[in-house]
Amino acid sequence: MGMGSIIDCSFNSCPNTPSELIDQAIEYSKTIQLPIDLSVIHWTISRHATKRAACCKFTHGSPDIIISLTWKAFQAYGWEKFMGIIRHELIHVWEYQTYGSTSHGSLFKQKAQQLDAPLRCDEFCPPRFYLICTNENCHWETTRHRASKTVTHPFNYYRCRKCGSPYTVEHVNTSIRWNTHSEYVRARQKIGTQW
Ligand SMILES: [Zn+2]
Ligand SMILES: [Zn+2]
Repeated sequence: MGMGSIIDCSFNSCPNTPSELIDQAIEYSKTIQLPIDLSVIHWTISRHATKRAACCKFTHGSPDIIISLTWKAFQAYGWEKFMGIIRHELIHVWEYQTYGSTSHGSLFKQKAQQLDAPLRCDEFCPPRFYLICTNENCHWETTRHRASKTVTHPFNYYRCRKCGSPYTVEHVNTSIRWNTHSEYVRARQKIGTQW
């Protein structure tokens, strides 16, 4: 850095290790304009490639909150984008501490827009489902983050967008597949908590 250059050091440095990421996340969280109790938050790092860039864990009957940051997601998105993810998680904390529960509902959306935070954690996440055309010559494939009707009701209502053939749905986490709604119901049971 040359003499006399002015650098805004506040949040422009790039954490190089998981513990630096935690430190920076803690400092950053203090600057967010939300009436929340930060002292009950325990920050952790997930080193696995989970489906979420970060997540909040609440324990019923306890004020303690765990925010888990996914190291791989940070590496993929960089600090700039990751700040948005931290804001997203802190809105969950705010909603939980203020109203006793949290979701991605209208209250969340309103705050997220106010704080310019992403509306869903999964905006940053790998898809949860693949939709794969059964016609070998077609190669149509798409992804879904949510269990929409295209995921839960294949065949009966929906077909491949390219060739009109039925498609197979695959649950990315478990590689369990289904082709119809009734197969989905069984698969959903089998997948259980890994859903
Ligand atoms: Zn969320
Ligand atoms: Zn097709």
